[in-house]
Amino acid sequence: MRGTFDRTSAFENALRQFDRAARMLKLTRNQIAVIKEPRRVTEVQLPVQMDDGSIEVFTGYRVQHNVARGPAKGGVRFHPDVTLDEVKALAFWMTYKCAVVNIPMGGGKGGVIVDPKKHSPAEMERLCRRYFAEMIDLFGGNRDIPAPDVNTGPQVMAWFMDTYSMHQQEFLPEVVTGKPLELGGSLGRETATADGVTICVREAARHLRMDLGGARVAVQGFGNVGSYTALDLHREGCKVVAVSDETGAFVCEEGIDVGKLHAYAQRHRRLRGAEKAIRSLTVLENPAKLLEWDVDILVPAALENQVTKENAPRVRARLIAEGANGPLTTEADDILDRKKVFVIPDILCNAGGVTVSYLEWVQNRMGYYWSARRVYEDLDEIMTSAFRTVLETSLQYKVNLRIAAFIVAIKRVTRAAELRGLYA
Ligand code: NAD
Repeated sequence: MRGTFDRTSAFENALRQFDRAARMLKLTRNQIAVIKEPRRVTEVQLPVQMDDGSIEVFTGYRVQHNVARGPAKGGVRFHPDVTLDEVKALAFWMTYKCAVVNIPMGGGKGGVIVDPKKHSPAEMERLCRRYFAEMIDLFGGNRDIPAPDVNTGPQVMAWFMDTYSMHQQEFLPEVVTGKPLELGGSLGRETATADGVTICVREAARHLRMDLGGARVAVQGFGNVGSYTALDLHREGCKVVAVSDETGAFVCEEGIDVGKLHAYAQRHRRLRGAEKAIRSLTVLENPAKLLEWDVDILVPAALENQVTKENAPRVRARLIAEGANGPLTTEADDILDRKKVFVIPDILCNAGGVTVSYLEWVQNRMGYYWSARRVYEDLDEIMTSAFRTVLETSLQYKVNLRIAAFIVAIKRVTRAAELRGLYA
């Protein structure tokens, strides 16, 4: 299904976003040179024994974009369409995402070209361990701290952590975040990205004087980010009328019973067939139409480059909350800007995940664990403050929220890089 998507280079898209903000800030060539391109790009070949005794070789990546403000931080994605270009873009966004929410970390990202659905848990475990072991010197609680992304979750983090701890002969949970609770994970991490999206939607609605009660919502992607955001917004009183995953899209004009659909997705690990279990659902023949549905709020929470110059003119939402990374191309951004659509950019909107990852890392280093309430309160404070800073910057510079978020973040990264200076 992803093969039909726009193949715009995600990294070029990311650099174009950077350039726009850098121009507003009148950064010098030297300043740009130090913070724009990735600092370290690693590609590895990963031979893994299959259950039938054969050996398959996978390609893995880790990109550390910038570490001026702290250790590299960012997830690892398992997907058949992973490319180095995509991983570089995702690492780039992590640098600026951490800076927008002002947590003391830099940007990194990893990926493996693999379709996890085609492998047994034992094969996946061997692949995970080989990935981590192959690049063990890159990782560490003060160096580079991976986390979950598409198709990786707490179990993968547990294998990463165990591989690292066995090599170092020490229990070192701070090397990854998004771990199971039993191994030093944080309460609230599973829902953190969605909670952050919802906090941003709440703040945006306040600014736009939009009533969330009864507001119509479409959510693309029903994984970690999409499904919990749908649940959260439903709880806030919104009417979720359209959702999709890679196996299908569903609509219900009266409002989807999101709790039931979430339970269905948990049980079946996909949405296909949900219309048989939940009779009020209608299957959308062309899933891409979800992005153009008649809604107040659109939450793209799947993959990059979903809203492009082709479909952007038909988008009807007033507010777009980017749950996914890079779901809008630069051309789509321009079109939506002209249509006065209020876009909460990814580096702000989905920063709740990395924020609670940071809180998990803090708890690991203290060896003291907080209540879910404390974690949520800290998340709310950090996200609300970041949203307000970005909004004020957008009003001050008369730019949209994406450029404003980059202005806030680039200033912080540039300042840290300058204070550190150049070593040798
Ligand atoms: P996930 O693997 O849990 O879910 C991805 C979902 O997208 C799945 O439901 C999948 O079926 C769906 N999908 C894939 N292709 C699709 C398509 N063509 N149309 C509709 N749905 C499609 O992944 P996730 O963790 O929820 O991540 C989703 C996005 O959010 C990614 O861009 C990721 O980088 C970003 N993100 C995730 C986190 C996090 O904490 N998990 C944090 C920040 C950003």
